[in-house]
Amino acid sequence: MKFGTVDGRLVLLRDGRALDVEHASDGRLPAEPTAALGRWDDLVVWAAGADWTSAQEIPVHRLGAPVPHPRQVFAIALNYRPHAAEAGFEPPESPLVFTKFPSCIVGPLAEVRLPAGKVDWEVEVVAVVGRGGREIARDQAWEALAGITVGQDLSERVLQLTGTPAQFSLGKSHRGFGPTGPMVVSPDELVDRDDVGFECLLGDEVVQSGRTSEMIFPIDELVARLSTVCLLLPGDLIFTGTPAGVGNRRTPPRFLQPGEILTSRVEQVGEIRQHFV
Ligand code: ZN
Repeated sequence: MKFGTVDGRLVLLRDGRALDVEHASDGRLPAEPTAALGRWDDLVVWAAGADWTSAQEIPVHRLGAPVPHPRQVFAIALNYRPHAAEAGFEPPESPLVFTKFPSCIVGPLAEVRLPAGKVDWEVEVVAVVGRGGREIARDQAWEALAGITVGQDLSERVLQLTGTPAQFSLGKSHRGFGPTGPMVVSPDELVDRDDVGFECLLGDEVVQSGRTSEMIFPIDELVARLSTVCLLLPGDLIFTGTPAGVGNRRTPPRFLQPGEILTSRVEQVGEIRQHFV
């Protein structure tokens, strides 16, 4: 299954067409994305036999954030060895977790106004919670997810690194700092759910590339470990970490400037594109 939102309403997506979930289900499923994902098992059953005759052609630029208002947003620091090394840290022994406050979540083509400071890029694969739950076993973890999407963990490094311990969550939560989309692809549609390539381009230059198979803590392990502490709720997002190539570890350091375009891509899912002003 592939799904996203148009004008804040949940739609199934297939071959450039969108099927409005509420309309096509005769109101049995809600339009609001978090509410509809809260009916995950019903949604999956209905989607398998849905009637696509009312589907409409939808240009990709009409798609919004797949989950515009998640209740929880988890994010993982230093989940790729080369990135941990460039940041000057040993690989962590357990996942390092922070949050991007949910008000930073925006859609795939959001324009981002640069705040004061030094704004950096971090392309990430974002896992989207479907059924969710507590104490999810690792071998059941993918069944608790709706799928994956593309995300940018935009980060203002001055605020992020202020104080001891530092302010990871605040420095990564400015307005527009959580672009996501353009759609969620369910695990069964991926060629290999544990090995998905992704990259990020600043203008035409590839600045980051990675594969999810290179994670220190793979997606299923993140779900298992997070769910020992938190109830994972339908629509929650997990930013799963960024590979090497961020701007503040370059020589000389490089940060986003007004007028620049950042494109982030995940294989088999699509791309998001941010213009900075
Ligand atoms: Zn990150």
